[in-house]
Amino acid sequence: MIKENIQNIQLKINEAAQRAGRDPKDIQLIAVSKTYPVSAIEEAIANGCSSFGENKVQELMQKIPCLPKDVQWHLIGHLQTNKVKYIVDQVAMIHSVDTLKLAQEIEIQAKKKNVKVNILIEVNVANESSKYGVKVEETLNLIKEISTLSHVKVKGLMTVAPFVNNPEKNRKIFRKLYQLSVDIKKQNIDNIDIEVLSMGMSNDYEIAIQEGATMIRIGTALFGQRDYTGA
Ligand SMILES: *Cc1c(COP(=O)(O)O)cnc(C)c1O
Repeated sequence: MIKENIQNIQLKINEAAQRAGRDPKDIQLIAVSKTYPVSAIEEAIANGCSSFGENKVQELMQKIPCLPKDVQWHLIGHLQTNKVKYIVDQVAMIHSVDTLKLAQEIEIQAKKKNVKVNILIEVNVANESSKYGVKVEETLNLIKEISTLSHVKVKGLMTVAPFVNNPEKNRKIFRKLYQLSVDIKKQNIDNIDIEVLSMGMSNDYEIAIQEGATMIRIGTALFGQRDYTGA
């Protein structure tokens, strides 16, 4: 199943990229492995996946030692400041930075371990009160503040779009994040690269690719329905 799912997703990535006049190689698949066992991740690795996303620090820390060292881990869920110390030197990227306080804690812990941490700024584009993320209009200011931290490297923006039955409905959200990234790039802020746009999930990744996504985060379309009962 996982093998066929990955092949199917790769086909759709290629098609969506082609339709948008983009190179499929510019779109990185993050396999979202939260709630799935190590065996499922091993199967995904055997079928070409190398980057995995987890949303909980504890689950991530349990999985890391069970899998090969060259796996790239992405922390995609909300991160509490008291858990930063466990992951700064374990992950390729943190997608969910939305406050200066969190960035400052990453700076402190990264300095201790002598590493630089790649982060994305999570933007609440849809302005849903239930969601994490900085508001669109506050994003530039937050990035300017974070740019002064020497062990934190802003690489781009991330958003979690609402769950919708018709993925077309999220197109305007993705377009807005893309436009925000263009506006921020124009500012040429020191220590800031806005190269990554992490947007699009199982339900809407083809639309996200058409609107400029460079990372898509896919769980259920790759691993199957999640079972939360034992998690
Ligand atoms: C769970 C999750 C995903 C993947 O969602 P699917 O709909 O299963 O593809 C993507 N991003 C974040 C932040 C998530 O928590």
